[in-house]
Amino acid sequence: MNYRLNPNYSVILMSQRKNAPYRDKISEDGLRIEYEGHDIPRTADIDDPKAVDQPRFTKNGKPTQNGLFASAVDDYSSGKRQAEIVRVYEKLFSGIWSEKGFFRLIDYKYEMDANNRRVFIFTLESSQIDIDSGELKENVLRERSRVIPSEVKKEVWIRDKGRCVICGATDELHFDHDLPYSKGGTSITSENVRILCARHNLEKSDKIQ
Ligand SMILES: [Zn+2]
Repeated sequence: MNYRLNPNYSVILMSQRKNAPYRDKISEDGLRIEYEGHDIPRTADIDDPKAVDQPRFTKNGKPTQNGLFASAVDDYSSGKRQAEIVRVYEKLFSGIWSEKGFFRLIDYKYEMDANNRRVFIFTLESSQIDIDSGELKENVLRERSRVIPSEVKKEVWIRDKGRCVICGATDELHFDHDLPYSKGGTSITSENVRILCARHNLEKSDKIQ
């Protein structure tokens, strides 16, 4: 978790993989995320961070990332500010991330987990916010269903062998919706999604993601 990694928004990297270190979840419709806070760093005094409450403050009294996110929720709940905007990426495979879009950080709990220690669980809700020439804007035209589900991305990744289908590049890859939404590309299945490198993705006039 990275509070205000960008001047306008925070960034979280989440994972629903079986061996993931935290228990993050996305609802089936992709609209809601539960994101677990971070454990205390392992140090000489702490040999098992998973046995210790997740800290809101460091030893020196400075807020941790958990603390920064929790304070943003507190200020939002008390009407002092708008909800923090968070850009979310999900880990699909080792080194392969899928962007889930922009969410609003609306709630958190600080609760006992199965190991009897307290953990932060943050709630994020999908927003229509999108990035446009470096600025965040509310995009009322954007349909939720434009987001390509992770399951589809995994299928496409395997089928396209992790390469741009045009030039075979293996880095800076994007999942591209073959038939643009504006031209009636509706259902998102692996048949109408393909992998393109950044260059070939940008060459398309109807860039989806
Ligand atoms: Zn290419």
